[in-house]
Amino acid sequence: MSVLSRWKARLRVRRNLLRAARRRHEANPTPESRRVIDDRKEQVAYAERVVERHDRDDRPRIVNLDLKPREGSQLSPQGTLRAVTGHYTAGPVDQTDEQCEALLRGYDRAHKAKGWTMLGYAFAISRAGTIYLGRPATAIGAHVLNQNSGNVGIVCNGTTGDRPTAAQARSLRWLLANAHTDALPKAWRVDLRGLPVKGHNDWMATACPGSFKRMYTSKGTKR
Ligand SMILES: [Zn+2]
Repeated sequence: MSVLSRWKARLRVRRNLLRAARRRHEANPTPESRRVIDDRKEQVAYAERVVERHDRDDRPRIVNLDLKPREGSQLSPQGTLRAVTGHYTAGPVDQTDEQCEALLRGYDRAHKAKGWTMLGYAFAISRAGTIYLGRPATAIGAHVLNQNSGNVGIVCNGTTGDRPTAAQARSLRWLLANAHTDALPKAWRVDLRGLPVKGHNDWMATACPGSFKRMYTSKGTKR
């Protein structure tokens, strides 16, 4: 258990104790029951500060590519979420975050040149673990033939034979657990907790996402 999850558990316990103290005070208010509430409040506030600090330390770098739909095209709302699907780009891996960003912008341009709306994936993760925001996750993506609605696309640079890094797996794990929080801008805030995470080749015959699949389907706990 990580320090963060221990403190999250502690925070839940302390909130319950505070609620119980308030109930006792309402039933039978005394100076002592008032004092217990104040103590409990302080303990909750302390745990909240610890959790908040660890949450921040734990958070990967997040870069909004700030891509826009092609002139004259429009995005549609995502609808009920049903799955997350992992991909590779079938191109080179990124050696630096600068290269990762350049590759992603290149794919966005190439997709628009084909008449598509914009980069089809909501999220990309660099080998250094940086999370890139592509197409808004609250809009329908374009990454699996005929299976895009309610399906959030994540991509890593690389192709068959390439393997994910530990940083990539860590950031995927973080993203799946925290995409609903205000760590992300509103257009990418989606609750991915509890959704099945599939590889592209679970939907159709394709080599994608190659050796990245284990990382995706294990939700970043293996690679
Ligand atoms: Zn794919």
